[in-house]
Amino acid sequence: MKNSIRFKVFERDRFTCQYCGKRVPDIILEADHLLPKSQGGKDTLDNLVTSCFECNRGKAARILINNPNIEYNAPSEAERKERREQLSSYIAWLKEEQENINQQIRYIYKVWADNFSNPIYPNENSVRLFLKSIGLANILEAISITASKNVLSALPYFYGVCHKMRRDSQEGIE
Ligand SMILES: [Zn+2]
Repeated sequence: MKNSIRFKVFERDRFTCQYCGKRVPDIILEADHLLPKSQGGKDTLDNLVTSCFECNRGKAARILINNPNIEYNAPSEAERKERREQLSSYIAWLKEEQENINQQIRYIYKVWADNFSNPIYPNENSVRLFLKSIGLANILEAISITASKNVLSALPYFYGVCHKMRRDSQEGIE
C-alpha cells in the first residue's frame, strides 16, 4: 500500500483508531481493509479505515495462532521508523488544524470590527468553544443578526444568539 494513501486515511480519521478510539502517540496506526485484500478489497479510501495494531491484530487472531512468536517480538527498526513517521505527521496535522482555527478566529474578529464601531471583542476562549460547537458560518450569522438588531450592548446579545444556536443544534442530534 502506498504511504500517501495510508496517511490520507489517518488524516481523515484524525489519527484515531476507529475501533477503540486511541490515538497517536499511544498507539501505532495501520490502515485496515474493510473488505480484505484476499477477497478483492482495494487500497482505496472508502475501503480503508484507521486501526491500531492491537485492534487490527484482534481481528486477525486466527492467522496469528500459527505464528505465536509475533506478539513477543521487540519493535523492529521498521516499526520504530513507522512510529516516528506517524508522530511527525500527526504533529504536522495538529499544527495545521490549530492554524486553521486561528485563521477563522482572526476572520471573525475582522467581521466583528467591520460591524461594530468602537468594538468590545468577544472573548477568544468563547469564540473557540463556539467554533467547535456551531462552526464558522453560524458565528458569522450570529454577528449579522446582532448587527441587524442595533442593540445597546452587542456582546451579550451575540453570546445569546450563539448559545441558542448551540442548544438548537444539540436538540437536533437527540
Ligand atoms: Zn484500536
